[in-house]
Amino acid sequence: MSIIEIVTYGNPILTKKAEKIKNINEKIEELAQSMLQTMYAAPGLGLAAPQVNRGIQLITVDLSRGEDSKNLIILANPELVSQEGTLLLEEGCLSIPDIQEKVLRPSRVVVKGMDLEGKERIIEAEGLLARVFCHEIDHVNGKLFIDRLSPLKKSLIRKKLKKSVQTGKIL
Ligand SMILES: [Zn+2]
Repeated sequence: MSIIEIVTYGNPILTKKAEKIKNINEKIEELAQSMLQTMYAAPGLGLAAPQVNRGIQLITVDLSRGEDSKNLIILANPELVSQEGTLLLEEGCLSIPDIQEKVLRPSRVVVKGMDLEGKERIIEAEGLLARVFCHEIDHVNGKLFIDRLSPLKKSLIRKKLKKSVQTGKIL
Protein backbone atom coordinates (compact mmCIF):
# COMPACT_ATOMS: atom_id res chain seq x y z
CA MET A 1 0.00 0.00 0.00
CA SER A 2 1.38 3.32 -0.96
CA ILE A 3 0.52 6.62 -2.50
CA ILE A 4 0.89 6.54 -6.27
CA GLU A 5 1.71 9.51 -8.44
CA ILE A 6 -1.32 10.88 -10.26
CA VAL A 7 -0.74 11.32 -13.98
CA THR A 8 -1.90 14.55 -15.54
CA TYR A 9 -3.27 15.90 -18.80
CA GLY A 10 -1.08 15.00 -21.75
CA ASN A 11 -0.43 11.43 -20.58
CA PRO A 12 -1.93 9.14 -23.26
CA ILE A 13 -3.33 6.69 -20.70
CA LEU A 14 -5.97 9.28 -19.77
CA THR A 15 -7.51 9.18 -23.22
CA LYS A 16 -7.50 5.40 -23.73
CA LYS A 17 -10.34 3.05 -22.84
CA ALA A 18 -9.18 0.91 -19.91
CA GLU A 19 -9.30 -2.90 -19.91
CA LYS A 20 -12.08 -4.77 -18.13
CA ILE A 21 -11.09 -6.69 -14.99
CA LYS A 22 -11.81 -10.39 -15.38
CA ASN A 23 -11.22 -11.49 -11.83
CA ILE A 24 -10.25 -9.84 -8.60
CA ASN A 25 -6.84 -10.96 -7.40
CA GLU A 26 -4.37 -9.79 -4.79
CA LYS A 27 -2.83 -7.29 -7.20
CA ILE A 28 -6.18 -5.61 -7.85
CA GLU A 29 -6.92 -5.50 -4.11
CA GLU A 30 -3.54 -3.93 -3.45
CA LEU A 31 -4.03 -1.39 -6.21
CA ALA A 32 -7.46 -0.49 -4.81
CA GLN A 33 -5.93 0.16 -1.37
CA SER A 34 -3.18 2.30 -2.88
CA MET A 35 -5.75 4.19 -4.94
CA LEU A 36 -7.71 4.91 -1.76
CA GLN A 37 -4.63 6.27 -0.01
CA THR A 38 -3.79 8.34 -3.09
CA MET A 39 -7.35 9.68 -3.33
CA TYR A 40 -7.46 10.66 0.36
CA ALA A 41 -4.03 12.30 0.18
CA ALA A 42 -4.80 14.29 -2.97
CA PRO A 43 -7.49 14.99 -1.65
CA GLY A 44 -10.22 13.88 -4.02
CA LEU A 45 -13.71 12.38 -3.87
CA GLY A 46 -13.02 9.83 -6.57
CA LEU A 47 -10.17 8.25 -8.48
CA ALA A 48 -9.91 5.97 -11.50
CA ALA A 49 -7.04 3.54 -12.18
CA PRO A 50 -5.91 5.29 -15.41
CA GLN A 51 -5.16 8.35 -13.24
CA VAL A 52 -2.47 6.32 -11.47
CA ASN A 53 -1.19 4.99 -14.79
CA ARG A 54 -2.98 1.61 -14.67
CA GLY A 55 -5.09 0.89 -17.74
CA ILE A 56 -7.79 -1.13 -15.98
CA GLN A 57 -11.42 -0.40 -15.11
CA LEU A 58 -11.22 0.22 -11.39
CA ILE A 59 -12.59 3.22 -9.49
CA THR A 60 -12.69 4.39 -5.89
CA VAL A 61 -15.27 6.84 -4.56
CA ASP A 62 -15.72 8.28 -1.08
CA LEU A 63 -17.70 11.47 -0.53
CA SER A 64 -16.80 11.42 3.18
CA ARG A 65 -13.07 11.69 2.32
CA GLY A 66 -12.25 8.79 4.60
CA GLU A 67 -14.39 9.98 7.53
CA ASP A 68 -17.01 7.26 7.29
CA SER A 69 -16.21 3.86 5.81
CA LYS A 70 -19.89 3.34 4.89
CA ASN A 71 -19.37 5.87 2.10
CA LEU A 72 -16.47 4.03 0.57
CA ILE A 73 -17.09 2.41 -2.81
CA ILE A 74 -14.58 0.38 -4.80
CA LEU A 75 -15.89 -0.84 -8.14
CA ALA A 76 -14.41 -2.82 -10.98
CA ASN A 77 -15.87 -2.45 -14.48
CA PRO A 78 -18.26 0.34 -13.49
CA GLU A 79 -20.91 1.31 -16.03
CA LEU A 80 -23.98 3.50 -16.18
CA VAL A 81 -27.16 1.45 -16.36
CA SER A 82 -29.52 4.41 -16.46
CA GLN A 83 -29.58 8.13 -15.93
CA GLU A 84 -32.16 10.79 -15.22
CA GLY A 85 -32.38 14.58 -15.09
CA THR A 86 -29.59 17.09 -15.54
CA LEU A 87 -27.51 19.15 -13.15
CA LEU A 88 -24.98 21.86 -14.04
CA LEU A 89 -22.20 22.07 -11.45
CA GLU A 90 -18.59 23.11 -11.29
CA GLU A 91 -16.23 20.21 -11.61
CA GLY A 92 -12.50 19.62 -11.44
CA CYS A 93 -10.13 16.69 -11.91
CA LEU A 94 -6.98 15.61 -10.07
CA SER A 95 -5.43 14.94 -13.49
CA ILE A 96 -6.20 18.46 -14.74
CA PRO A 97 -4.96 20.71 -11.94
CA ASP A 98 -6.24 24.28 -11.60
CA ILE A 99 -9.10 23.94 -14.10
CA GLN A 100 -12.70 24.09 -12.90
CA GLU A 101 -15.64 24.33 -15.25
CA LYS A 102 -19.37 23.82 -15.07
CA VAL A 103 -20.30 20.45 -16.51
CA LEU A 104 -23.76 19.14 -17.29
CA ARG A 105 -24.32 15.71 -15.74
CA PRO A 106 -27.34 13.56 -14.96
CA SER A 107 -28.83 14.28 -11.53
CA ARG A 108 -29.59 10.62 -10.85
CA VAL A 109 -27.86 7.49 -12.07
CA VAL A 110 -27.85 3.75 -11.57
CA VAL A 111 -24.35 2.27 -11.70
CA LYS A 112 -23.40 -1.36 -12.09
CA GLY A 113 -20.05 -2.92 -11.29
CA MET A 114 -18.21 -5.61 -9.38
CA ASP A 115 -16.94 -5.24 -5.82
CA LEU A 116 -13.68 -6.66 -4.47
CA GLU A 117 -15.46 -9.88 -3.50
CA GLY A 118 -16.30 -10.37 -7.15
CA LYS A 119 -20.00 -9.74 -6.53
CA GLU A 120 -22.14 -7.62 -8.80
CA ARG A 121 -23.20 -4.33 -7.23
CA ILE A 122 -25.98 -2.06 -8.38
CA ILE A 123 -25.83 1.40 -6.87
CA GLU A 124 -28.37 4.21 -7.14
CA ALA A 125 -26.88 7.65 -6.73
CA GLU A 126 -27.98 11.25 -7.00
CA GLY A 127 -26.48 14.73 -6.88
CA LEU A 128 -22.78 14.87 -6.11
CA LEU A 129 -22.38 11.09 -5.83
CA ALA A 130 -23.99 10.63 -9.26
CA ARG A 131 -21.58 13.24 -10.62
CA VAL A 132 -18.49 11.56 -9.14
CA PHE A 133 -19.59 8.21 -10.59
CA CYS A 134 -20.09 9.74 -14.03
CA HIS A 135 -16.69 11.46 -13.83
CA GLU A 136 -14.85 8.26 -12.84
CA ILE A 137 -16.72 6.09 -15.35
CA ASP A 138 -15.68 8.62 -18.00
CA HIS A 139 -12.06 8.09 -16.90
CA VAL A 140 -12.15 4.33 -17.45
CA ASN A 141 -13.58 5.04 -20.90
CA GLY A 142 -10.76 7.44 -21.73
CA LYS A 143 -12.87 10.54 -21.39
CA LEU A 144 -12.05 13.70 -19.44
CA PHE A 145 -14.52 16.23 -18.06
CA ILE A 146 -13.24 18.87 -20.48
CA ASP A 147 -14.47 16.61 -23.31
CA ARG A 148 -17.99 17.40 -22.10
CA LEU A 149 -17.64 21.16 -22.55
CA SER A 150 -18.58 23.24 -25.59
CA PRO A 151 -16.05 23.08 -28.47
CA LEU A 152 -15.06 26.72 -27.86
CA LYS A 153 -14.48 26.27 -24.15
CA LYS A 154 -12.66 23.03 -24.77
CA SER A 155 -10.24 24.60 -27.24
CA LEU A 156 -9.53 27.51 -24.87
CA ILE A 157 -8.74 25.07 -22.05
CA ARG A 158 -6.65 22.90 -24.36
CA LYS A 159 -4.52 25.94 -25.25
CA LYS A 160 -4.08 26.80 -21.60
CA LEU A 161 -3.16 23.19 -20.77
CA LYS A 162 -0.73 22.96 -23.67
CA LYS A 163 1.08 26.00 -22.33
CA SER A 164 1.29 24.48 -18.86
CA VAL A 165 2.69 21.24 -20.27
CA GLN A 166 5.31 23.18 -22.27
CA THR A 167 6.38 25.34 -19.36
CA GLY A 168 6.62 22.28 -17.17
CA LYS A 169 3.82 23.28 -14.83
CA ILE A 170 2.08 20.02 -15.55
CA LEU A 171 4.24 16.96 -15.82
ZN1 LIG B 1 -10.84 13.14 -12.97
